Amino acid sequence: MGVKIGVLALQGDVAEHITAFREALADRPGSTVVPVRHAADLGDLDALAIPGGESSTISRLIGKNGLYEPLAGFEGGIFATCAGMVLVADRVDDPRVRTLGLIPMHVARNAFGRQVDSRETSLNIAGLADPFRAVFIRAPVATEIGSGVEVLARIPEGIVVVRHGRHMAFAFHPELGGDLRLHRTFLEGLGI
Ligand code: GLN
Repeated sequence: MGVKIGVLALQGDVAEHITAFREALADRPGSTVVPVRHAADLGDLDALAIPGGESSTISRLIGKNGLYEPLAGFEGGIFATCAGMVLVADRVDDPRVRTLGLIPMHVARNAFGRQVDSRETSLNIAGLADPFRAVFIRAPVATEIGSGVEVLARIPEGIVVVRHGRHMAFAFHPELGGDLRLHRTFLEGLGI
């Protein structure tokens, strides 16, 4: 059966997420990947990606588009990257971001310092046989996690991959670079 994935399309690297999930689902006939801008778009989705971008901007647009409650109550899995990781947390060090409270964790924005805009690291991630080439761009880290949150990867600055039930969050950008192992891990975790 086909799978339907949405990508929150308010700001950020939406096109890259759509392309990556389309590739990850290429062998699943009838699957679709669609942009999400309004609550009605969430209705029949199996999962939703929340992209990287600027979490304070995305947070403002979530409010403007009446998406806060529908996203906070979303019943599918969420694949959150970078700014998306900030948004799915339940606490953040920046009052301009209203987090969705989907994963009990505290997140620090721009945790690598202002000088270090981006960095590529070979990262060991629990569940993957070989390291993942992780692209960090003005990335957050999780500094504390609540119960039920599984840490799948950490670096000296903090926690960079977590799973919480049907949701996964990444401080870096698995949608860049063409390695789709984390997309497949996420889909397998949902049983789809
Ligand atoms: N620094 C951004 C934020 O906190 C995230 C950067 C990104 O998504 N690449 O919103």
